[in-house]
Amino acid sequence: MAKRDYYEVLGVPRGASEAEIKKAYRRVAMRYHPDRNPGDPEAEEKFKEANEAYEVLSDPEKRAAYDRYGHAGVSGMGGVGGGAGFDAFGDIFGDIFADIFGAPRGRGGRRRGADLQYTLEIDLEEAVFGATREIQVTTAAACDHCGGSGARPGSAPVRCATCGGLGQVRRTQGFFQIQQTCPACGGRGTVIAEPCPACRGAGRVQRARTLAVRIPPGVDSGDRIRLAGEGEAGPGGGPAGDLYIQILVRDHPIFQREGRNLYCEVPITFADAALGGELEVPTLAGQVKIRVPPETQTGRLFRLRGKGVPGLKGEPPGDLLCRVVVETPVNLTPRQKELLRQFQAELEGSGRDHSPQKASWFERVKGFFESFKS
Ligand SMILES: [Zn+2]
Ligand SMILES: [Zn+2]
Repeated sequence: MAKRDYYEVLGVPRGASEAEIKKAYRRVAMRYHPDRNPGDPEAEEKFKEANEAYEVLSDPEKRAAYDRYGHAGVSGMGGVGGGAGFDAFGDIFGDIFADIFGAPRGRGGRRRGADLQYTLEIDLEEAVFGATREIQVTTAAACDHCGGSGARPGSAPVRCATCGGLGQVRRTQGFFQIQQTCPACGGRGTVIAEPCPACRGAGRVQRARTLAVRIPPGVDSGDRIRLAGEGEAGPGGGPAGDLYIQILVRDHPIFQREGRNLYCEVPITFADAALGGELEVPTLAGQVKIRVPPETQTGRLFRLRGKGVPGLKGEPPGDLLCRVVVETPVNLTPRQKELLRQFQAELEGSGRDHSPQKASWFERVKGFFESFKS
């Protein structure tokens, strides 16, 4: 039977990169893996074919020889035929399948516990000034009774009889030897003869813990704080993962944040806006007074330097920007209404321009309509 082209076997173009070849090989090998296709000789054949193709194409020297001379260029270089080729082959295989199945590599490998994430809602004040918050997390923690080993105290894990402590076993599959994680010990190389009664041999128990989280000044929604080693304990006494605190800053009733600046709106009476005066504005550190000049228009921004939010890397705080909003008075008495009418008549009869925006606004409207006519 003529051999199929190796690139065709893996379904990649001739110029495929190493990463593309590796990815394609994983896809094909997973599909035709004997464990997934028991008793299917066609799948087994395709699996072998993919292995052979990958062995050649993943090796730059062999690939170059294959590209130049085709199958003749690489016959006797390993793959089918046995001999020294097998060891290298086993390594390629262990590498790829450790990735796919998440199995520990090497002998006696201890798996690391999972990383965890916790969303912490904080107030704007805590984000600006920093704080320490206590949180409760329930995670898999190392069992106190056995110290995480899973073995009854006084006993110890014993060497796995199936793999002889290597954590890997080799199985013959037709012409091939396949190295895989030992099914008896899960790759650890040891098994527990007498399980710990507290954790039933798992080495881990679920436990609620209270942690103090230091929130640095300047954090914002979306920032993550990493607490190293506070994640899930590793199985069989493996190292713990990390805990990530995801920050979520609650909306504030007065202030909106934009980067390091804060914004707020402050209502002001018509009389104060016209005559000028002192205005009390809020900051996160308490009320402060600002001077509002006469003839202040609605929407004007007043900048309070340094009353914003500090940067996470020690940058100085931003500013607080207060927008004054002139309020139209409501609940007017008949007398107040009469005074306003008189006031309006007084404005119209004065011969002065009291509406700085109105005049220019009418000019713009006029220009706008004239542009239609032309
Ligand atoms: Zn235990
Ligand atoms: Zn084993």
